[in-house]
Amino acid sequence: MTPEPPVLIVGGGPAGLTASLLLSRHGVESLLIDKRVGPSPLPRARGVHSRAMEILRVCGVEPDLRAVELPITPGAQFQADLTTEPFREDVTSTAKTVVSPCDGLSVSQDVFEAVLRDHARAYSPAQLRTGVLLESFRIDDGGVLATVVDQHGGGTTDVRARWMIAADGARSGVRRRLGIEMHGPDDLGRQTMIAFRADLSSWTGARPRGIYFLTDTGAALIWTHTDDRWVISRPGTTTEDDPAAAVRQVLGLPDLDVEILAASPWTAAAQSASQYAQRPVFLTGDAAHRFPPAGATGVSAAMHDVHNLAWKIAYSNDGTKLLDSYADEREPVGRQNADETGAAWSRLFSGNGSPFSGRSLGQLDMGYQYRSAIIADDGSPDADPPGSDYRQNAAPGCRAPHLWLNDGTSTIDLFDRHFVLLTAPPGDPWRDAAGRSVGVPVDSHVVPEPEWPELYGVEPDGAVLVRPDGHVAWRSRTGSTDPAADFRTAMSTCTGI
Ligand SMILES: Cc1cc2nc3c(=O)[nH]c(=O)nc-3n(C[C@H](O)[C@H](O)[C@H](O)COP(=O)(O)OP(=O)(O)OC[C@H]3O[C@@H](n4cnc5c(N)ncnc54)[C@H](O)[C@@H]3O)c2cc1C
Repeated sequence: MTPEPPVLIVGGGPAGLTASLLLSRHGVESLLIDKRVGPSPLPRARGVHSRAMEILRVCGVEPDLRAVELPITPGAQFQADLTTEPFREDVTSTAKTVVSPCDGLSVSQDVFEAVLRDHARAYSPAQLRTGVLLESFRIDDGGVLATVVDQHGGGTTDVRARWMIAADGARSGVRRRLGIEMHGPDDLGRQTMIAFRADLSSWTGARPRGIYFLTDTGAALIWTHTDDRWVISRPGTTTEDDPAAAVRQVLGLPDLDVEILAASPWTAAAQSASQYAQRPVFLTGDAAHRFPPAGATGVSAAMHDVHNLAWKIAYSNDGTKLLDSYADEREPVGRQNADETGAAWSRLFSGNGSPFSGRSLGQLDMGYQYRSAIIADDGSPDADPPGSDYRQNAAPGCRAPHLWLNDGTSTIDLFDRHFVLLTAPPGDPWRDAAGRSVGVPVDSHVVPEPEWPELYGVEPDGAVLVRPDGHVAWRSRTGSTDPAADFRTAMSTCTGI
């Protein structure tokens, strides 16, 4: 029997690696296993959005990722094939820089995971073992008893853990073993992805577009690595054909010198699990939801899941309300993302402008509002209505808004391991109340910036309590005659203790 880690993480993709990193920052020991040893031969995702980068900024990972970022020209370009003039260009809005300290990141998933893995390994509470397969598990009173197999001759071992995070991808064996169904369409069209190396600089320039939609063949072309590596994804499952011929045909370049690196069929799906947890097991990332790549939200959502979960495991003390809130908060978001990206997938090549007609991509990334027993609803109207673009909002359940502070940091940088109470100066009554809080650590922060009260929807004597995952847990729009009692009640609600 392997020494007992409180948390067993199954899968070392973006969800599992981020879970390891975040649990370590909370001082929680974990064992991550992944059956793979090396990176996937297909780069899959080519980047993450701003909210995921905020999580990585707080963890100190962002500089290493920016160092390997691809110098793309943001936006999408539509043309018949690579040799023809574009007939439409969708330039990515720069509005996000106002609402976030982080731009999205353009880097291939294999490179992204390598950087995450190095950071995850650097924390002493984390063990990461590759080439190790979860063979089976059972749930009992002590948590989970898992049987794992070292695929390189190390034999079979039992691992006991209090909690298990299923981060084992779209075909999740954990999910299937628990009998959890997926809801939503599982076949929105079959595609073939081909990774190849070719010098396309004569047609794309030195800073290629984020994505090229090549409308003659309905294919997408994406630059993945600076050493002339690219992928195309095109409708149909044509791995039996000559992939080099397929690449040349899609690009409209019959004489192109092409080196094929990998080719694989895949099926677009827009699904979300009927249950996100069967305690003590939590489904995260693609194990919980599968989105078509319209808007490229899969990796980001995987990271949002574990960001929501990690602090709850750290703070739970087995508290039911706190752990139940993972599924209560993330399941509606997963379902909504599946619906929105599923609808957008069918509109990718048609019409003008964004294929998102319900919630915008910015809303999917940052606009969702959690509602659960540990969010102290203050009666504000829905902060995330469909049909509008993302606007920062500090209503309970929302991501706490970004504001640049005088020292050059962002409010986002304050939300890491502890609950944080924000007030305008002087804030003494609330800070005194937070100082007397028992049970969980609360950091108090006085925000002198004059924009803060309006941005956070409070009077200058109000207060906002933000969770370790950067979502607003409670706010008092005004001062209180008994801040200590109000704060105690808020903490009790928001921690479930
Ligand atoms: C063709 C394609 C294109 C995509 N394009 C994009 C895109 O542009 N943008 C985007 O955001 N997303 C994209 N995605 C989706 C993105 O790759 C996933 O959303 C993301 O990888 C999910 O991360 P994850 O950690 O949940 O799962 P995964 O990355 O799938 O990781 C799961 C891990 O679990 C391991 N594992 C599985 N079973 C076991 C077991 N029994 N024991 C031990 N280990 C196990 C696997 O080896 C794997 O490493 C694309 C996906 C595909 C297939």
